[in-house]
Amino acid sequence: SNNNNNDEDSGRVRVAVRIRPRNAEDLVLDADFADFVELQPELKRLKLRKNNWSSESYRFDEVFTETASQRRVYEVVAKPVVESVLDGYNGTVMAYGQTGTGKTYTVGRLGKEDASERGIMVRALEDVIACTSLTSDSVEVSYVQLYMESIQDLFTPEKINIPIYEDSKTGEVSLPGATVVKVRDLDHFLELLQVGEANRHAANTKLNTESSRSHAILMVYVRRSIQENVNEITSQQKDTRTDLLGSSIPMVRKSKLLIVDLAGSERIDKSGSEGALLEEAKFINLSLTSLGKCINALAENSPHIPTRDSKLTRLLRDSFGGSARTSLIVTIGPSARHHAETTSTIMFGQRAM
Ligand code: ADP
Ligand code: MG
Repeated sequence: SNNNNNDEDSGRVRVAVRIRPRNAEDLVLDADFADFVELQPELKRLKLRKNNWSSESYRFDEVFTETASQRRVYEVVAKPVVESVLDGYNGTVMAYGQTGTGKTYTVGRLGKEDASERGIMVRALEDVIACTSLTSDSVEVSYVQLYMESIQDLFTPEKINIPIYEDSKTGEVSLPGATVVKVRDLDHFLELLQVGEANRHAANTKLNTESSRSHAILMVYVRRSIQENVNEITSQQKDTRTDLLGSSIPMVRKSKLLIVDLAGSERIDKSGSEGALLEEAKFINLSLTSLGKCINALAENSPHIPTRDSKLTRLLRDSFGGSARTSLIVTIGPSARHHAETTSTIMFGQRAM
C-alpha cells in the first residue's frame, strides 16, 4: 500500500543518533574525562553534559547505543525508506558526523567475513532485489563521489566533472554521464561496491586527500512493471490505465533511492590552511551548510527548500521532502575529547526535528 507516504509528517526528515563503541584510543585518552554523553534510548533522548552541574537533553526519532546491531539500525533507519521506494516514491538515507564516528561502518560496510556487519547499502539492495522480479523489473546503480563541487564516477574513475541534469518538466534529477550498472544479484552488487570503494580510495590517494573529505553517493534506480502487481492497483486506476494506454501496454513505475556517506562534519581549520586546502575547506562547508539549510527548511514546512546552493543538495532535490522519505543518521563518538564536534553534530540533527 502507498499509505506510508500520506502520514502528516511525510516530508519531514527522520533523525536517529548512533554512538560508536569505545576503542583502545578512547580508553587511553579519555581516562581523565567524565562521560560527556548520556543516552536514554527508551526515551529516545540523549543528554550532553554542559558542566559539572547541568546537562542539555535532546530528543530524536531513535537513539542507538554502542551495542545496537547493524540489522536494527537498518530496520529502523533505512527500511521504511526502502519500502517507500519499492512503492514508487523516491527516498534518501544519509549519514552525517565527524570522521571516525562510524558513518562508513553504518552505511557502507560490506561485511564480507561476517554478514551480520553488513551496512545500509548492502541490506537495502538485499531487500530491493528480494522484492523485485528478475524478469519484469530492473534495479540499476550508479556510485559517485562529490569532492570540491565536482562529481566523479566511482565505477569508471576516468569520468570526472559529471554534470547534473535536471528535467525542467518533471523535476527529475539525473547523472546521464555516470556509469549505470544493472544489478544481477547481491553478489554482483557486493563486487560493485568493492570496486567503488577501491576507486574511492585510489582517487583520494591521487588527490592527496582523505576520503573523509568527499561525499559518497549510491544511486539506486528501481523500475517495476505494474502489470506484475495488478492486485495492488485499484479498479479506478485500472480503468484509467485502459483508457490512456489500452490494455496491452505495460506500465512502469520508476523510483530512486540515494544512500549517502557524507564528508566528515568536523570543522576544517581555515585559519591554518591556504591555497588548495583552503578552497577545499570552503567547498566542504558549502555542501554541508547548504544541506543543513534544506533540512531546516523541511522541518519548518517552508514552501521553499533552498536546494540550488550546492551540488549535493541539487542531487538530492527530487529525493528529499515532498513525497520522498528521508532518513538521517548522525553518528557521534563516545569521547569527551571531541565534545565540541559532538555538540555540533547533535545540533545539526536537531535542526531537522
Ligand atoms: P567514518 O566513516 O565516520 O570516518 P568509520 O565508519 O570509518 O568512521 O569508523 C571508524 C572506525 O570505527 C572503524 O574502524 C570502524 O570499523 C569502527 N566502528 C565504527 N562504528 C562502529 C560500530 N558501531 N561498531 C564497531 N565498530 C565501529
Ligand atoms: Mg568514512
